[in-house]
Amino acid sequence: ARKAVLGPLVGAVDQGTSSTRFLVFNSKTAELLSHHQVEIKQEFPREGWVEQDPKEILQSVYECIEKTCEKLRELNIDISNIKAIGVSNQRETTVVWDKFTGEPLYNAVVWLDLRTQSTVENLSKRIPGNNNFVKSKTGLPLSTYFSAVKLRWILDNVRKVQKAVEEGRALFGTIDSWLIWSLTGGAKGGVHCTDVTNASRTMLFNIHSLEWDKELCDFFEIPMAILPNVRSSSEIYGLMKAGALEGVPISGCLGDQSAALVGQMCFQDGQAKNTYGTGCFLLCNTGHKCVFSEHGLLTTVAYKLGRDKPVYYALEGSVAIAGAVIRWLRDNLGIISTSEEIEKLAKEAGTSYGCYFVPAFSGLYAPYWEPSARGIICGLTQFTNKCHIAFAALEAVCFQTREILDAMNRDCGIPLSHLQVDGGMTSNKILMQLQADILYIPVVKPSMPETTALGAAMAAGAAEGVGVWSLEPEDLSAVTMERFEPQINAEESEIRYSTWKKAVMKSVGWVT
Ligand code: ADP
Repeated sequence: ARKAVLGPLVGAVDQGTSSTRFLVFNSKTAELLSHHQVEIKQEFPREGWVEQDPKEILQSVYECIEKTCEKLRELNIDISNIKAIGVSNQRETTVVWDKFTGEPLYNAVVWLDLRTQSTVENLSKRIPGNNNFVKSKTGLPLSTYFSAVKLRWILDNVRKVQKAVEEGRALFGTIDSWLIWSLTGGAKGGVHCTDVTNASRTMLFNIHSLEWDKELCDFFEIPMAILPNVRSSSEIYGLMKAGALEGVPISGCLGDQSAALVGQMCFQDGQAKNTYGTGCFLLCNTGHKCVFSEHGLLTTVAYKLGRDKPVYYALEGSVAIAGAVIRWLRDNLGIISTSEEIEKLAKEAGTSYGCYFVPAFSGLYAPYWEPSARGIICGLTQFTNKCHIAFAALEAVCFQTREILDAMNRDCGIPLSHLQVDGGMTSNKILMQLQADILYIPVVKPSMPETTALGAAMAAGAAEGVGVWSLEPEDLSAVTMERFEPQINAEESEIRYSTWKKAVMKSVGWVT
């Protein structure tokens, strides 16, 4: 009976920093039919280094696809209804592999990784103060965060990669490129491409002309031959070459934050969303204009949903550590055994009791861009216990969001009336309530939280030659929302926020 009501289905790979998911949606109703999720290991081989195994990432994608297809079969849903697959991915994370063997030549250097700090310092000396061509072409500040410096480090330090480049065997890509190349056949004809959103995070891409930029590649000394082809976010790139979905086109590709913007239907100028995953990313659609921030935000490509469709830009506030602080409390301190337990501890405390936790593990991103910052927990007394620290960790995520929202409001001129949210952490109700209290505006969450995957599925389903998903606004009526209204008074909220800022100042300058 179920089969009869189903429209065409669309799958989405959501490859995040913490985990990989595969999800299948009904293209007519946006209903999530089934999914599977696998946690991804992170390696910290040295202080400040963060790596992942590209093969483990690829295997996790195959595993999620196979398990989801099994679950669909158990629901009596015919997987041949899956007409397209979209890919959304952690951005900036850098992979170099051998195009003849399909083997990665080094671990993936994750966006949070800090090993390039001295590379960044050296490069920044070469940018003229009165002509920051890197910023004006890419919309990004020179930082350890973006792919170009990670790739520079790999080229400088990994002999195997140097050799492969000399022999014309090396390919570079962010996670989307690595996955699409591998899934479409790898060494046997894989398609080496990326989309404009992912390209815009490499620091090699001109966000005005939408092309790789020769001057930037020269500046970072990156051979252009190893770069993927840049495509729109919604078009057929190639077909799945193996597994249960062999032959299905991959036709959507968006960096995870762009995918969430699409999945939250922020298609209008001025619409914004905040995603709480490993880090926290607030993006505001600025339409066809590139808006440059005066307050530490990035300018980035939001999406381009089709070869002949116009490009949209966004202002972005990026916070490096959000959910990662909860994972740290679990894995490094062991005060919780699952991320969900943080809610129970925080509830027990009900307050941080004057304790402030600045999780500047990877320096501070927006709005500070302070690589010298490191994490601190301050305001401790004999009374402080792990519940207060748990509470302070959740509050830190909210304060960091407040800082980027304030910057966004200043840059855009029109303050946001409410905040649309999504991401793994938003299942935490205490966090959501605290966020409304600290922003002093309502926080609004879609009842279907997988908006990143939804955005990738929409892009894939809407692609030319697939055409099973319509991006018209009437499709949105079915979306139900959960609202969190501010409950404490504005004055109390301001006092807490100003103490937070004091704590932030203490975290800056720990490393020189
Ligand atoms: P990513 O897309 O970066 O992989 P997710 O959106 O999957 O991240 O969110 C996972 C992150 O959210 C993890 O860092 C985890 O610690 C955190 N997290 C998950 N559930 C909760 C919860 N109930 N409360 C607080 N944090 C949570």
